[in-house]
Amino acid sequence: MTVPFSLLGLSKDAAAYTVELADLVIRVWSTEALAGGTNSQLAATVFYLHCSSARICRASRLMSDPRKLLRHVTPAHLYHRRSLPGIKLLVVNSPILRSLPARAQPLPLNFIASSLSSDIPAEDFLPEHAECWPGDRLVDMFPDSIIFHTSHPKKSSNLFNQWLEQFRDGLSLLCNDDTVLYAFSDGSVLPDKRNRVAAAYRAYRGQQELSRKSISCGRTTSYDAELQGLSLALHYLTSQDATAIYLFCDNESALTSLFDTRLHASQMLSVLACRKARAWLEADPNRTIHPSWCPGHADIEQNEQVDVDAKTAATTTPPIAFISHAYARQQVTAEATKEWQLLAHQMSYCGHGFLANHRLRKVSHIGGGPTLTLTGTDTSLTARFARAVLDHAPTGEYRTRFFPNENPLCNWCPPIQSRRHILSTCIHYVRPRPNFEEFLKNSAEPGPSLVSFLKANPSAFTFTDVPDDDIF
Ligand SMILES: [Zn+2]
Repeated sequence: MTVPFSLLGLSKDAAAYTVELADLVIRVWSTEALAGGTNSQLAATVFYLHCSSARICRASRLMSDPRKLLRHVTPAHLYHRRSLPGIKLLVVNSPILRSLPARAQPLPLNFIASSLSSDIPAEDFLPEHAECWPGDRLVDMFPDSIIFHTSHPKKSSNLFNQWLEQFRDGLSLLCNDDTVLYAFSDGSVLPDKRNRVAAAYRAYRGQQELSRKSISCGRTTSYDAELQGLSLALHYLTSQDATAIYLFCDNESALTSLFDTRLHASQMLSVLACRKARAWLEADPNRTIHPSWCPGHADIEQNEQVDVDAKTAATTTPPIAFISHAYARQQVTAEATKEWQLLAHQMSYCGHGFLANHRLRKVSHIGGGPTLTLTGTDTSLTARFARAVLDHAPTGEYRTRFFPNENPLCNWCPPIQSRRHILSTCIHYVRPRPNFEEFLKNSAEPGPSLVSFLKANPSAFTFTDVPDDDIF
């Protein structure tokens, strides 16, 4: 059977497809995993099959073997996902699945976090909520009513001051227009006070302040708090009558994810914000919502005030017990990194030959860490770097330990060819300074110095320079 499918023209990330099987239209999308770290490899991929209710009988017959159906409807480049053990199939709108789970299954992080002594996240996610269905999302249904004002020149750019003047002019127009509502929101984190976090907003109509509120966010990240502030402001403003709502915030990523219901940190806030915004926009087709970036610390009075509100609330509002997923992930990552860092200082972990400079023992899970970023994608250089640092290299010294019958002597000088000899005294190599090994041990930047030595001496720590057996 040939199954034609067409890309819906929705976000590529959502991997949404319409599949036509005879007269049955099925919508398929993947919710994706929460990206990043160890999380993504553990998270299940979820496919949703969306059928119109009129076609349910036909769908039910096909759904007798969901995996078979998935074979028909999965575009070729998504085939690999079928083999994932976590695949889950849902037919949205069918009588069987009308009672969709109210909340998602606990994420893998919840299980990881529960094994730690620290905190267990309490955040729920709603990837199956109606606000998440491709084609029916708020941004799909109201493309002309939600207008983002997030592009701006960099603060360091010459154009920024000109942009700021225009921003101030636009703001003063809002202050003189009683048909428009606007709010400034902010989030604040006090890491030195056990990560106390608060969010705040102030809402206005014209010159008049209508409402202000500050809340404790529990233990969350600043991104969570910014989204919380925006969400609070939107909830208040959508209870009022106006032609337009302007939401100002100095965090761009929070602004852009406010109406993005795909899985992300604090996704439920986006789902709730979409519900509020949808009802408000549906009530009058002329209404618009404008999420707008506002520069922080640029002497914009309302923004400075709400900044103080959030900071004050973080200090004074009693903390709540809530722990966000993003915060828990930070903690899990921090604990794992700490444990790894401790290991990195143990000889049993790093080996007896590890070059004695603690700066080479810094570990990081991001982008190869401080060491591997130095060698980039050059595998040969990376291998030689590792051999030099670990003293696990094809040298005469290595032979004395493992191949005592083979020649350990340098091809160019009298002594045994050791790491120290290669780095500090061997006449075969060029080096930026004498006694280079001692320099590396005491250097504040041993990595870049070693890399430049290896680049200047491309045969160092390779089998090319291994002691010649013929002369032994
Ligand atoms: Zn030599």
